[in-house]
Amino acid sequence: MIRYYSTRDPHKNLVRFEEALLKGLAPDGGLYVPDQIPKLGPDLWQRANSIAGVGVAVLREWLKDEIPLTDLEPIVQDALNFPCPLVKLSDDLYVLELFHGPTLSFKDFGARTMARLMQYFLRKRGERRIILVATSGDTGSAVADGFAGQDNIEVVLLYPKGKVSEVQERQLITERPGVRSFAVEGTFDDCQRMVKEAFVDPKLSHLPLSSANSINIGRLLPQALYYLWAAKQLHSRLQSEAVNFCVPSGNLGNLMAGVLAALMGQPVHRFIAAHNDNHFFPDFLQGKVEAYQFHPTIATLSNAMDVGSPSNFERLYTLLGSERLRSWIWGTTVSNESTLERMKETHHHYGYTACPHTAVGLEAQARYRRETGDPTPLISLACAHPAKFPDVVLRALGQEPPREEALEILYSRPTRVQTIGATLSALKAHLL
Ligand SMILES: *Cc1c(COP(=O)(O)O)cnc(C)c1O
Repeated sequence: MIRYYSTRDPHKNLVRFEEALLKGLAPDGGLYVPDQIPKLGPDLWQRANSIAGVGVAVLREWLKDEIPLTDLEPIVQDALNFPCPLVKLSDDLYVLELFHGPTLSFKDFGARTMARLMQYFLRKRGERRIILVATSGDTGSAVADGFAGQDNIEVVLLYPKGKVSEVQERQLITERPGVRSFAVEGTFDDCQRMVKEAFVDPKLSHLPLSSANSINIGRLLPQALYYLWAAKQLHSRLQSEAVNFCVPSGNLGNLMAGVLAALMGQPVHRFIAAHNDNHFFPDFLQGKVEAYQFHPTIATLSNAMDVGSPSNFERLYTLLGSERLRSWIWGTTVSNESTLERMKETHHHYGYTACPHTAVGLEAQARYRRETGDPTPLISLACAHPAKFPDVVLRALGQEPPREEALEILYSRPTRVQTIGATLSALKAHLL
C-alpha cells in the first residue's frame, strides 16, 4: 500500500492518497511524498498504445487499494483525451509536445486528471471544496478549465497582475461557472505565499480549502505519465532504453514528475533542469548556494517559469538529497536574450516554432551536449503552444505564430476579474 507523509514531519505519519489529494498541502506546511515508489519496469508502458493507456496501467498500481479499476479507467480516459506527440528535430533530439490539451500547456495533464480524481472522492464523501490556486501563467487556466462547472468545487485563482502574457490573462479571467479570478498586485511568489498562509490561518480553518498547485501530489502523478509515454515512443523508434530529459522548470513540479517516472523504472541517464533568470536551482546543483537559499522572483519572457522559491524543491530534496540531485540533474540558466536567440535558431534550423519556455529547454540541452559530449538521445519538453505568446514569437522570429482556434474562441467570451493587494488579509476579505 502506498501512503504519503509530509516533508516536514519527523515522524513520517502516513495518509492515504485520497487525503493527500484533497488536502494538497500537509497541515504542517510540508508537501506530501510517497513512502514507497512502485517499481513497475518499462514493459508496462512499452505495451501501451496511448497516453491514456499508460495512465491506466500505471495509476492503477499507485491507486489500487483506493479506486477500483472500473472507476479509474473512465477517469483517466476522459482526462487524457488529447494527443501527446514526440516530434523529431534531429537523430538524437526530440521534443515532446505537451500543449495539445484544452488550455494549450502541459498543465492540462495534471489539472484534468486531478480534477476528476478529486470529484470522485468528494462525491463519495458528499463533501465540497474551495480550490485555491496560485498561478504564474498556465496552471490557473488549466485548473479552472479542469474544474469549472462542478457543483461541489469552487475555484479561486490568484495570478500576478501584469506578469502573465495577454493570452494567458485572457484564459485566466474568462468567465467560468464556479471560478473566481484575482489579479494580485505582486509576484507569483506573493500569490504562492498567500495560498500557503491561507491554509494555516486559523480564521480560515472552517473553510474546506484545498490546493491545486504542483504542491498537490494529484497533479504530479499524471505528469509522470508523459515521460513514460515519450520513452516508449522513443524506444520504438531507436530501440534505446536510456534517455535524457530536458525540463524547462519553474516550480520544479514537472521535474519532480520526471523523477517519479524514473524511480518507477524508466532508465533516465540525466535530467537537465532548464531555468530562466530565476537561478536558484541551477546554482544549487552547481554548489554555488545551499538548499533553500531562494531569491526574489525575476520577471522574464518565459513567465510561467518565473519562480524564485520553487515549492517542489522541498520534495526533490527530501526524496533524493543533495548528492543525488547534484549527480543526476544538470542545470543551467538561460537569459531572455539567449531564449530569443534559441527560438530564432530552432525556427531556422528545424522549421520549428518553440514557445519561450520550450526554447529555454532547447538552449539548455544544447549547452549540456556541448559541455558533456553525452551521446544519449534527448527529449526536450515542449511546455506550451507558441500561440500563447504571440508577442515574444514576433520579437524572436519577426512573424507571429499561426492563430489557434482554441484561443480565438476565448476573445468572444465574457471576462470577470478583481484586483487585490498582495496580502493574506486582502484575500481573506473575499473568502470570508
Ligand atoms: C508551469 C510551466 C513551466 C514550469 O513548470 P514547473 O512544474 O513549475 O517547473 C514551464 N513552462 C510552461 C509553459 C508552464 O506552464
